[in-house]
Amino acid sequence: MGVATLIILVVAISLSFLLIYVPNMHIIALQIEDNRLTGGRVSVMDMLRNSEAALDDEDAATRQNILKGHQLRLTLPQNVTAAGVSIENKYVDKTIFITINGIGKDYFDNYPMRGSCNNIVDVTYDSENLVGVIEIEMDTVLEVSMVSEGENIYFDFVDPHDIYDYVVVVDAGHGGNVPGATKMGINEKDLNLDIVLELKKLFDRNDKNIGVYYTRTDDCNPTFASRVNLANDSNADVFISVHNNSTASGRMSSINGTEVMYRGSDETDESKRLAELCLNHLLDDLGTKSKGTVVGDEVYIIRTSEVPVALVEVGFMTNQRELENLDDPEYQAKAAQSIYDAIIEYLGAE
Ligand SMILES: [Zn+2]
Repeated sequence: MGVATLIILVVAISLSFLLIYVPNMHIIALQIEDNRLTGGRVSVMDMLRNSEAALDDEDAATRQNILKGHQLRLTLPQNVTAAGVSIENKYVDKTIFITINGIGKDYFDNYPMRGSCNNIVDVTYDSENLVGVIEIEMDTVLEVSMVSEGENIYFDFVDPHDIYDYVVVVDAGHGGNVPGATKMGINEKDLNLDIVLELKKLFDRNDKNIGVYYTRTDDCNPTFASRVNLANDSNADVFISVHNNSTASGRMSSINGTEVMYRGSDETDESKRLAELCLNHLLDDLGTKSKGTVVGDEVYIIRTSEVPVALVEVGFMTNQRELENLDDPEYQAKAAQSIYDAIIEYLGAE
C-alpha cells in the first residue's frame, strides 16, 4: 500500500466519523441554546388548575376565606410588600405581567398560587436577581385590578366596559420591517405613528372616562389579526386605523387629499358614520381636498372588524406639498386633533 493510498484511507475514515458525529453535535448545540433561552421559565398553569380543582372541593366559607371573593391570590414573603409589586398590561398581546421585587426562582415552591383559571390561557414564571415576573396570558382583552390585605395580594380581571364609559382602539398602520410607502426618505409607518402619538397625548390629557388601547406606540409590527382582535376582543366602541396614501404607481404626482375607508358590509352604517365624521373634521382643520369616504372591505382589518371601524388616509405621500405637510409635527398634531374631535363627536362624549 502506497503512502498516497494510506492518506486517502485516513481522510475517508476521518470524514465518516465526522459525518456520524456532526448531527449529534448539532443537537447538543440546540439543547444548550434551548436551555439558555428558556432560562428556567416555569409553567405555573398546572398549579393553578390544581388549585382550582382543590377549591371546588372546598365549601363556600373556606373558598371565601382563601380568595376573599377574588380570582387569584398570591402570598408575599415577609420581606416583600405590595409596594414592590407592579403590573403591566400588554393589551395587544392579551398578556399581563406582574413583577414582584424580592422573590426568587423558588417563590412558587413556598407560596403556591391560589384561585381559578377563568379567562386564563397560560401562566409562566421566571426570576432573575430576585425580581420575579409572572406572565399571565388571557383569552381576551381584560383590565387587571389588585388589592392587598396583609401578606396576600388578590387579582381580578375585568371587562374594559366595566371600568370605562367608552373603549377606543387606535392603530398606527404598518411598523417594524414593514414601512408602508417610502418617499424622499420618509416612511409611512413613522408618519402614522407620529400622528397616533399626538392622538395619545390628547387622550392622556382628557378628563372623560375613555379607555384607549393602542396596537403599537413604537416601531413594532403587530400582526393584522392581533390589531383587529384588540378592537374585537375589547368590544371597542371605535376602531381607528391611521395611514397615509400614495398613488398606485408610487410616483410623485399632483394627486392629493384626505380619504377615509369604512366597512361597507356593516349593516348598522356606524362604520360609515364614523368615517364621515373623521373625513369632515380633517377637511375642516387641514384644508385638504376631499377624496371622500370609500368602502374598504378588501382591507383585512376593515373586513374583519366587528366594531365600527374607520381607516384614515390623512394625505398623499406622493404629493410633494402634502408630504412636506405630513412630515411637519404641527400638521401631525392638527391631524390628531381632528381625529380626536371626530371620535369624541361620534361617541357623543362631549
Ligand atoms: Zn398604509
